[in-house]
Amino acid sequence: MPIRDLDINLTDEQKAMRDTIRKFGSEVMRPAGIELDKLDDPSEVIAEGSVLWDVYRKYREIGLHKRSIPKALGGMMEDMDIMSSILMAEEMGYWDSGLAISFGVDGMPFALAALSPDPELQSWARDYVEDTECKMTGCWAITEPDHGTDWLLRSEATNCSECVPNVRAELKGDEYILNGQKSAWVSNGTMATHANLHVSLDPSKGMAGTGLAVVRLDLPGISRGKPLDKIGQRPLNQGEIYFDDVKIPKNWMIVPDPALIEGTGEMGLARVNGGMGITFAGLARAAFDEAFKYSKERVQGGMPIFEHQNIKLKLFKMYKMVESACALSRRMALYNAANPLAPSAPPAVASKVLSTETAFQVASEAIQIFGGNGLSREYPVEKMFRDARAAMIEDGVNETLSIAATEFM
Ligand SMILES: Cc1cc2nc3c(=O)[nH]c(=O)nc-3n(C[C@H](O)[C@H](O)[C@H](O)COP(=O)(O)OP(=O)(O)OC[C@H]3O[C@@H](n4cnc5c(N)ncnc54)[C@H](O)[C@@H]3O)c2cc1C
Repeated sequence: MPIRDLDINLTDEQKAMRDTIRKFGSEVMRPAGIELDKLDDPSEVIAEGSVLWDVYRKYREIGLHKRSIPKALGGMMEDMDIMSSILMAEEMGYWDSGLAISFGVDGMPFALAALSPDPELQSWARDYVEDTECKMTGCWAITEPDHGTDWLLRSEATNCSECVPNVRAELKGDEYILNGQKSAWVSNGTMATHANLHVSLDPSKGMAGTGLAVVRLDLPGISRGKPLDKIGQRPLNQGEIYFDDVKIPKNWMIVPDPALIEGTGEMGLARVNGGMGITFAGLARAAFDEAFKYSKERVQGGMPIFEHQNIKLKLFKMYKMVESACALSRRMALYNAANPLAPSAPPAVASKVLSTETAFQVASEAIQIFGGNGLSREYPVEKMFRDARAAMIEDGVNETLSIAATEFM
């Protein structure tokens, strides 16, 4: 008896969209993710000729990158109903969570540029939509060597001149001058051509004195660090970005007023964490499916290990956890989509924390069900375990995210 799909009421269009991503995920993302994960040197992930670029080109050919760009600029933002967006994020996380996150941050600077009335910035969004050769790629640069959680949890000690972001922007005439460094944790930081860049505008206010710019990364004075070598989500390449007297036009500072950033804190937390919650519910399901399938194939004690009661108990517990993570992520996403101007952070953070912890625990139990094979790189579950582990720190450490979310309860 197959495990039933609880998604009733999907339209034919939604099913077709899910099937397209399932095909892309199983044929392209999963095998490429495994290949990229096995590369010893993370520089090889973004090297010319890497399979990463084949994945990116296919992703762009399907047109999935258009999801965050308005129709007026050639995108398909308005065409994506919320259930389609949920299915898409979940499927991407299912097939390779590191690549899913890479695709997610890829579109961020172009989506931000699309919000500007400035024709030059709008043309970036339009060109990105057309770019199937992946000449334009994006990243989200917020974390700094001296400031990770400081961007999330604020206090008197962080909102003062003693605690100033590493990257500073100083207005001189019609230009901002950028100086400083973003940390090695910037996803796509090694390969992006454009960034959403969080900067200090008013050092006297510390972490409360920041703005947000959209920046081209080929300008004089910008350099990159070496790709980061890390435990999980290795197909997601990460690295530092350095700014040395970099001049950007004033109009690239999309949010030039710190009060605006502070005022939209809940929206930012809700948006970022909502996507993470859905994506990692997908990874949790993938780990469960692998364990379930293996338990029917592996014979010990003269029967498939599925027949042993301890394995059944484990599998049912995993199933229950996965369905719970999926249920919360859907409920949260539906609520926040219905309240686009005032999305709620607590359910989004709850979903991120639940899904990433579920993915980690389910992948760990999957390794147990695989026995020795679970530890081998020949089987997919040890990679899923490492990918899930990274997610519990990604986009905010789960504990500090939880504290931040209570501020909005
Ligand atoms: C896979 C992955 C992808 C990422 N992608 C991006 C990206 O695209 N762009 C980007 O800019 N960043 C990215 N990050 C960075 C990520 O957001 C940070 O790692 C995270 O915010 C934590 O910051 P930190 O690593 O500096 O840890 P720290 O802030 O140094 O925290 C260390 C420990 O101290 C605790 N702690 C810190 N401050 C407090 C406090 N005030 N109160 C209580 N406890 C505290 C934390 O909970 C944690 O356990 C990514 C990280 C990962 C792992």
